Amino acid sequence: MEAGAMKGRRVHVIGAGLAGLAAAVRLARAGAHVRLYEAAQAAGGRCRSYDDAELGCRVDNGNHLLVSGNVAAMAYVTEIEAAATFDVGDSAAFPFLDLRTGERWTVSPTDHLFPWWLFLKHRRVAGSHAWDYLQALKLRNAGPRQTVAEVLPRESILYDRLWRPLTVAALNTAPEEASAHLLWTLFAETFGKGGAGLHALLPRQGLSESLVDPALRVLAARGAEISFGHRLRAISLVGDAVAALDFAAKGQVDIAADEAVVLAVTAPVATDLLPDLVAPTEFRAIVNAHFRIEPARVSTGGAHPPFQGIVGGTAEWLFVKPGHVSVTVSAAEPIIDRPAEDLATTIWRDVAKALDLPHVPMPAWRVLKEKRATFAATPEQLQRRPGPVTSHHNLFLAGDWTATGWPSTIEGAIRSGFAAAEAVRR
Ligand SMILES: Cc1cc2nc3c(=O)[nH]c(=O)nc-3n(C[C@H](O)[C@H](O)[C@H](O)COP(=O)(O)OP(=O)(O)OC[C@H]3O[C@@H](n4cnc5c(N)ncnc54)[C@H](O)[C@@H]3O)c2cc1C
Repeated sequence: MEAGAMKGRRVHVIGAGLAGLAAAVRLARAGAHVRLYEAAQAAGGRCRSYDDAELGCRVDNGNHLLVSGNVAAMAYVTEIEAAATFDVGDSAAFPFLDLRTGERWTVSPTDHLFPWWLFLKHRRVAGSHAWDYLQALKLRNAGPRQTVAEVLPRESILYDRLWRPLTVAALNTAPEEASAHLLWTLFAETFGKGGAGLHALLPRQGLSESLVDPALRVLAARGAEISFGHRLRAISLVGDAVAALDFAAKGQVDIAADEAVVLAVTAPVATDLLPDLVAPTEFRAIVNAHFRIEPARVSTGGAHPPFQGIVGGTAEWLFVKPGHVSVTVSAAEPIIDRPAEDLATTIWRDVAKALDLPHVPMPAWRVLKEKRATFAATPEQLQRRPGPVTSHHNLFLAGDWTATGWPSTIEGAIRSGFAAAEAVRR
């Protein structure tokens, strides 16, 4: 959006997750007068960092992996001037460990568009052949109602060691119910661009320092007003327009005819506020476990990669971070109701094997359960994603659950924010 395109126009953005921040930054940079309201006392929503008193270190609410091919996320990082806050891999490299056999391998696509790397054994999944990867093309022709498990051969080694882990990690939905079509979109926009689009970007400090705080600084510099502790309770609609926003104890904000509202809250909150809205109704869980570990015990410079995928255990992705190790288990419905200590013990066993550490004693730990981490990426739920434009002429929608064509991810949230900003401009 060109600078000045929105000069002086007032836009109210509700929700300071990445969708709301991306919309607010785009609009503010185009000259709009942005007012951003957030229910919590901090921005970031489902993508944020905080100081954990028990662990004695700063942790991210969940592990988030960005890659260089995430075009909207890269544009956002540039717009909020945060590129220097990331460590960027020199090449694409996804290390894996199979806990059942002890085998380790690194999927390492070269930067070329044509996947020559598939012909090099040491760059592939252990035990796979170059032609096995042609299976992915079956996703391209999948029908809109087909699941990943219906399309990809379940008996193949790649299903267990690549297709399943990627589906679960990227769609937060088990392959037996995840949309094959959505997985294809993701492959086409990442692997399809060659390894150059798969270099990992890891926040040097934390998610907030890389994706949230810089955005708030850009907004403040552009005169945006940011109000925390403002939970939108009701939207008053008159005819086809929003006439006022009701922030309960914080008061009511009247919306003038030439002002716009971007609703960038979660799907359940949006449907509470707008009962006629059709939006996703099913969600999937993520469990994160953090373990306090002195940096000297695990160095990312040598034996331990900064992150690795794990198959054949409970832990799925393991990240080595400053002062702690952090583990993600996605599509976590089968384990979410287990007691936290039991989960920590099971996950720690996997971590100890992966990092060659003693099983006992287990270090200080924290287990975070997020029951509604993302919407369920099933064919049925994808039909329920609305676009940014509503039947009310000054009301626009953003959020990872809107129709971005992407799963519920940082990239999807930022795309939705940009799309809402563009819709406001139009
Ligand atoms: C544990 C976990 C791990 C994840 N891992 C990954 C990953 O590895 N890679 C990846 O790309 N994505 C990952 N995600 C998904 C990613 O975090 C989300 O897709 C993204 O952050 C969603 O952003 P959003 O702005 O759409 O929604 P949210 O972040 O939910 O933002 C909505 C905001 O609206 C505010 N709000 C709600 N109601 C109101 C109200 N009534 N009034 C005012 N404000 C309100 C909320 O407080 C919140 O700040 C993960 C998510 C979780 C929970």
